[in-house]
Amino acid sequence: QPLSLPLTERSRSELESFRDTQQAAYDELVASGLKLDLTRGKPSAEQLDLADGLLALPTTTTTPDGVDSRNYGGLAGVTALRAMFAELLGLEVEQLSAQGTSSLTLMKDVLSYLWLKGGVDSERPWGQEEKVRFVCPVPGYDRHFTLLEWFGIEMVPVPMTDDGPDADAVAALVANDASIKGMWLVPTYANPTGQVTTQEVAERLASMPTAAPDFKIFWDNAYALHHLTPEETKSADIVSLAAVSGHPHRPVLFASTSKITYAGAGVAFVGGSRETVTWFHDNLGLGSIGPDKVNHLRHLEFFGTPQGVRDHMDKHRALLAPKFAEVERILTEQLGGLGIATWTHPRGGYFVSLDVLPGTASRVIELAKGAGVALTPAGSAFPYRDDPDNTNIRLAPSFPVLSEVTGAMEAVTTCVLLAAAEQLLA
Ligand code: PLP
Repeated sequence: QPLSLPLTERSRSELESFRDTQQAAYDELVASGLKLDLTRGKPSAEQLDLADGLLALPTTTTTPDGVDSRNYGGLAGVTALRAMFAELLGLEVEQLSAQGTSSLTLMKDVLSYLWLKGGVDSERPWGQEEKVRFVCPVPGYDRHFTLLEWFGIEMVPVPMTDDGPDADAVAALVANDASIKGMWLVPTYANPTGQVTTQEVAERLASMPTAAPDFKIFWDNAYALHHLTPEETKSADIVSLAAVSGHPHRPVLFASTSKITYAGAGVAFVGGSRETVTWFHDNLGLGSIGPDKVNHLRHLEFFGTPQGVRDHMDKHRALLAPKFAEVERILTEQLGGLGIATWTHPRGGYFVSLDVLPGTASRVIELAKGAGVALTPAGSAFPYRDDPDNTNIRLAPSFPVLSEVTGAMEAVTTCVLLAAAEQLLA
């Protein structure tokens, strides 16, 4: 157990002996031959088991409104399933479309349509603009950033605050620069920092003047229902806020059941104003006659009601909360009071965001790899993989079993301590 005197207040010889202790602990770890992985926010097998009732469904192939789900058609998805998730996401049924298995695919589709055709409020396709830029709250979701990079969209980072993205910074950026066409936002239990965007911040983002007439908020509510406590935090109502402030087509919402039922065989949703949803279908319809409605029906029957979804999420919480508590326990016991690390205490979502001594994140990740513990590559949560302070590490404890979370976190904290001592002695 390390003494809880901040490392920066220790003498050189105290630091040297601290480093030697950590080096010995690290050498032991390497010798113990761990093989653990905290890289991706995947549901565990136990979580997937919760949804195995799906495998015996649907018991009917006819939708509640009398449509044969086996046939072509119904581009917007099964209406009753849209209605179920519209209620959960605070939308009207016409403001939500149910599609395939991946919301990330829908994000790529929406960007592609904007790029090739422009949105309902665009003067021209985005691809015909000289330059397109996006505001990216950081740390954020790596796949959001790599998707923009693929489009050649330039990324402008803004910090996340406890209330969501720094709204002053965003408002200042978008006010005079028409090349800034949009922003990412994971409003509830952000990946990886866990913050919930408040109604006030959402209102500011919905109403702020933007130089681009077709500015879009990509409102990726991947963790809308993924609470780690009994409190069912509600997401801000961005669609209504945007409508009342005169920018009804600004938000495009995304969500999915990837971390509710099956990550590889769930249902993904895209939403926004009715015009936005119609625009989406008009573009989608060139390449699809309809989504997998049998899967929609299966999900509809499995849950029964919106409350059925909430009840199901309680079962996920029972499996996930102990893993997050274990991460918190080990970080506190091993790193608390040493002045070399801070971390988030998420009330939902899939991640803990750990900030280690600036300059040491890549070393920690390298050390962990050497000890058989895979961590998300350094800089992943930043555009262009550039963490300017080399400080952030995303921890994803959902997939390993609890005992593996313990082993992996004990290894991680040893690496954090060793890297900090090395740096302070350098
Ligand atoms: N959005 C965020 C913020 C995520 O963290 C993830 C998965 O980790 C996704 C989207 C992927 O969603 P889907 O499985 O629906 O493609």
